[in-house]
Amino acid sequence: MFGQRIALFTLFGLKVRANSSWVLLAVLVFWSLATGFFPARLPGLAVPVYWALGLLGMLGVFFSLLFHEFSHSLVARAKGMEIEGITLFLFGGAAEMTSEPPTPRIEFEVAIAGPLASLALFLGFGLVASLLAQTPLPEYCSALFGYLSLINLILAVFNLFPGFPMDGGRVLRAWLWHRRGDLLSATATASRIGQGFGLTLVLMGFWALISVGALGGLWWILIGIFVIGVARAAYEQTALRVTFEGTAIRRFMAEHPVSVSPDITLAAFIEDHVFHDHYSVYPVTDNDRLIGRVRTRDVKQVPREDWAQHTLRRIMQPIEAGQLAHPDDDAQQVLDKMQRSHSGQIIIADGDRVLGIVTLADLLNHLALKQELGV
Ligand SMILES: [Zn+2]
Repeated sequence: MFGQRIALFTLFGLKVRANSSWVLLAVLVFWSLATGFFPARLPGLAVPVYWALGLLGMLGVFFSLLFHEFSHSLVARAKGMEIEGITLFLFGGAAEMTSEPPTPRIEFEVAIAGPLASLALFLGFGLVASLLAQTPLPEYCSALFGYLSLINLILAVFNLFPGFPMDGGRVLRAWLWHRRGDLLSATATASRIGQGFGLTLVLMGFWALISVGALGGLWWILIGIFVIGVARAAYEQTALRVTFEGTAIRRFMAEHPVSVSPDITLAAFIEDHVFHDHYSVYPVTDNDRLIGRVRTRDVKQVPREDWAQHTLRRIMQPIEAGQLAHPDDDAQQVLDKMQRSHSGQIIIADGDRVLGIVTLADLLNHLALKQELGV
């Protein structure tokens, strides 16, 4: 989800990183403050003052986003959840939790911490702004804090919307999860509301773009598309977790023998195995011992006319830990492993004895069937 990230610093043991798209947000905030917001609010100042205010405003927004995300992360960590760090990106920030909240109560506490932190900043910055307004300092000092106060109010209110991926969506999910006792159905509701919200943003963006010609509409469209995507992904992720976590991968394994001998020819491999089982990777065994793997696409390294002469030894590769799983491994962890290695299948073995193979398609079909049957 975050792509290429730049490490910024570490605070309270949490790594703060920025996605390259964050630079765009920083420039956008800086630019709109320096050329739009402050000149309109405080006319007649020197241009460098607007630039300085834009820069300070941008840093204040950066601080506000981090304060919000740190609140989520620190509460989550205090509740025993694993936190990787915080990533800033085009649409704000995200606390990266490597584990999901174990109970509705913890989910609620972690979710509400962010908006509460933003509300606290809204009050704090607002107080500073009104105190500064009573001093002989130039008006722009108070205006800067007034702006930051407003931004935090917007951040809190926007995030309280009760749909994924906003914090309010997590609050709603926690409440429904507690009431229904069903995490998946609670997630489905919060995800659907989030997708509806995203769609509304997209439509509003188009409306602003077409009727008023406001380029800001593009921004709403982008945020809307992002919200829809993340809301949908949140549901899928939970569906996977509910289905696979705590179940041994053995349950989803095709148990018919799929291994191939290193001494068969490439032609026989294609004809008798690939055209038959359609796997993309095959374990190679010698006297029932796992000695490597062949990928179907590697056959193409050998010219077609030579397929009858060469054996699999020619294209066989050693097997790595990321391509193997034990039958008792947790299905969710195996799925994570497959995603990390960008492989559509994994070999299941006990020591050097091959027991079967699991494909991503098998797992997804199982999930689809379960959803269809409602079990
Ligand atoms: Zn939040």
